[in-house]
Amino acid sequence: MKEGNRNPKLFIEERKAIILFLWLFYIVYYSFEIFYYLSKSTIYKEKDLISTSMVSLGLFLVVLIFGVYFIKKGNPFIVKYIYIYSYLGIDLVDTLLTYWGKDIPYTSGNIVEVLFFLYSPIFVNKRFFWLVSLGLIGKEVILGLILQSMNVLMPIVIYIILSLIAYTVLIRFNSYIKSITAVYEELRHKEKLAVIGQMAAGIGHEIRNPLSSLKGFAQLQHERSPNSNEFYPIMIQEIDRINSIVNDLMYLGKPKEINFEKARIEEIIAYTLSITQQQAEMQGVKIETFMEGPLPPIECDGKQLKQVFLNLIKNAIESMVDGGRIKINVKTVSSKKMYISIQDEGCGIEDSNILNLGEPFFTTKKDGTGLGLMVTNQIIKDHNGKLKIESVIGEGTEVKVSLPIMQKNQIKK
Ligand code: ADP
Ligand code: MG
Repeated sequence: MKEGNRNPKLFIEERKAIILFLWLFYIVYYSFEIFYYLSKSTIYKEKDLISTSMVSLGLFLVVLIFGVYFIKKGNPFIVKYIYIYSYLGIDLVDTLLTYWGKDIPYTSGNIVEVLFFLYSPIFVNKRFFWLVSLGLIGKEVILGLILQSMNVLMPIVIYIILSLIAYTVLIRFNSYIKSITAVYEELRHKEKLAVIGQMAAGIGHEIRNPLSSLKGFAQLQHERSPNSNEFYPIMIQEIDRINSIVNDLMYLGKPKEINFEKARIEEIIAYTLSITQQQAEMQGVKIETFMEGPLPPIECDGKQLKQVFLNLIKNAIESMVDGGRIKINVKTVSSKKMYISIQDEGCGIEDSNILNLGEPFFTTKKDGTGLGLMVTNQIIKDHNGKLKIESVIGEGTEVKVSLPIMQKNQIKK
């Protein structure tokens, strides 16, 4: 069962709720039935009535055994369903046996039904809510039809009102829980970042120094004997790769101070295209740029925005193994915001992965780092901009970036 896989804390909550529910259920149900049948037996002097209701009281003791068993066995989520189903079944049969073919006017239900309504928001479960509402209202409708009694109208109206109230409370609970979960997720994300930051600060520095001497020596050797060894360029390229990973990690660790300056977006994009051109050509990817000019200069940290578009364009190219087209659109709307969209015809992103984008180290590539989008996100956030990713699997991905043209208050970190 889906619910059973949830967090152990929710498990404990559900257990508490169901145990309280069981206590209330038995107290309310038994006292109501006993009181009711005592008064009924004096009015109608019908012995059968008492015997059928005693049977249902007994049946609920059997149900209790199941309930306790599942709570003990560690599946409290199922108990509420056992109770609503057995209640519906037992009560329907009990009522039919009591009233069918007899000359007694139908009086409906047990007050315990109200308890089901009240508890459906407490279990914060929409399926259970619908089961309770439709089940109990449906039961009255069926009884009304079989017993040909209009007495069911009143409980139906009351139950509809109770359903509406329960539904409203349920929705409120749900959205409250959702926002708490969102806050929690954000905290967890920040914590993860902080840990990465500490690691990065510690290790990054240590790695960069030996790396730069390695690179220096590799270059030196290459210059000394340019024709002797074809591996030097690869060595240098790989060292650069390690360097850029370390840089990404260090950026996340301690975000650099942002130097907002006026820069031209055309130049930033042209720069990134010049770097990615070779890779694009190798993969048969055509890049088309559309600028809806004239574009005003934008207040930003040019170096960091280059990093952003480098990451995004690289991702787009990497998603198109068999070539294709990338469209880059740049436009301004009003004179406040710049919109840049990068649209590829690549593999697209699975729905289940969309949520993981931007999580540190989330990658689907063999030699990906899973840091690109995270750094990108961070930089855009630092620029008070927004990033949106829309993707259709097999058709392609569109990444939309919006950036304010002027920074309101230049918050420096
Ligand atoms: P990396 O590129 O190192 O894998 P990123 O953070 O840049 O790390 O991207 C994370 C993941 O997001 C990628 O592995 C890929 O699965 C997915 N992704 C990002 N951009 C695209 C895109 N344009 N098309 C398809 N998948 C993408
Ligand atoms: Mg990437």
